[in-house]
Amino acid sequence: MAAAALGQIWARKLLPVPRFLCGYGRCASSSFKAADLQLEITQEPHKKPEPGETLIFGKTFTDHMLMVEWTGEKGWGLPRIKPFQNLTLHPASSSLHYSLQLFEGLKAYRGRDQRVRLFRPRLHMDRMLRSALRLCLPSFDKVELLECIRRLIQVDQDWVPQGAGTSLYVRPVLLGNEPSLGVGRASQALLFVILCPVGAYFPGGSVMPVSLMADPTFIRAWVGGVGDYKLGGNYGPTVLVQQEAQKKGCEQVLWLYGPDHQLTEVGTMNIFIFWTHEDGVLELVTPPLDGVILPGVIRQSLLDLAQSWGEFRVVEQKITMKELLRALEQGRVREVFGSGTACQVSPVHRILYQGQQFHIPTMENGPELILRFQKELKAIQYGSGAHEWMLPV
Ligand SMILES: *Cc1c(COP(=O)(O)O)cnc(C)c1O
Repeated sequence: MAAAALGQIWARKLLPVPRFLCGYGRCASSSFKAADLQLEITQEPHKKPEPGETLIFGKTFTDHMLMVEWTGEKGWGLPRIKPFQNLTLHPASSSLHYSLQLFEGLKAYRGRDQRVRLFRPRLHMDRMLRSALRLCLPSFDKVELLECIRRLIQVDQDWVPQGAGTSLYVRPVLLGNEPSLGVGRASQALLFVILCPVGAYFPGGSVMPVSLMADPTFIRAWVGGVGDYKLGGNYGPTVLVQQEAQKKGCEQVLWLYGPDHQLTEVGTMNIFIFWTHEDGVLELVTPPLDGVILPGVIRQSLLDLAQSWGEFRVVEQKITMKELLRALEQGRVREVFGSGTACQVSPVHRILYQGQQFHIPTMENGPELILRFQKELKAIQYGSGAHEWMLPV
């Protein structure tokens, strides 16, 4: 890929901060600084997973965590890397009562040269700050937070697994910690980052297709809401719907929106369709960032890659169930898939909609595009050379 093209990709913002949020970052100029990091190394390191050991996502944690406290009076305290430990929260903490909580999810990879690198971390920092402003939580310097995360990963670098498809999942969290029951702006906040070694999402490098339940009675996000922010409050209520899907023999939820049943997301993944459009042109399509779509970093990366290939049309456009069903009927659908940090790319082979099962021929078609995306992403993530999407730790 041409370096110039990648440079442009790098410079492009995932999503601008909405105008109504501007000026909300109280003490926007003040932040904790990575140079002030206090380091407390654990006296009781845990046993690291064996190479090749199966890791269940999000169940194994490293020895250390990053923690920074904020108060309206004093601003940010010193950032601390300390032994992984429980939090102590006031029972009235506003994070617990009113979901003043947001998170991020990004990955660090061990390259073939053994160096550890983060995948497009600046896009995650941008998104996290945007979430913080939406919840009236304190602003911070994205560069300083990223540097603190790098230092944390350096401390726990031996926890970054080795082997095909493995990575270190990085989970930053910011929560309002107001110790009172009034619904209002938090005068205290807590930022922390924890790390999980994770195994390959698709063991053996194969891709397993998923089936989806599409039921318009459940709505994940709506225009004017907060579905386009990574707020914890968006996810708890989806558990019941996910369970409903499983009861109906489906693995995940296809979230529909509006009277025309627009396809928006798959579980906690963005959705893509690779098809021949009604006008006869081969295209890759994903819904636009119109307020109900989470601006995924993998979503952006797939759009960037496909655009750089220039082999088919790449568009961000509304897709309705009616359009998908017509395309299926006319044999125009090649591949349907979800995208996200956990799985990267996940094929879809069946959709349950209005009591009917619709087969999607994703696997029959290779899945050529999915495998190509996977291969390109892997080459970048586990590569040993410099790449603008990868930040060495
Ligand atoms: C996190 C998330 C995604 C994927 O975002 P990535 O940055 O690609 O991991 C998509 N949809 C929802 C609802 C999400 O929470």
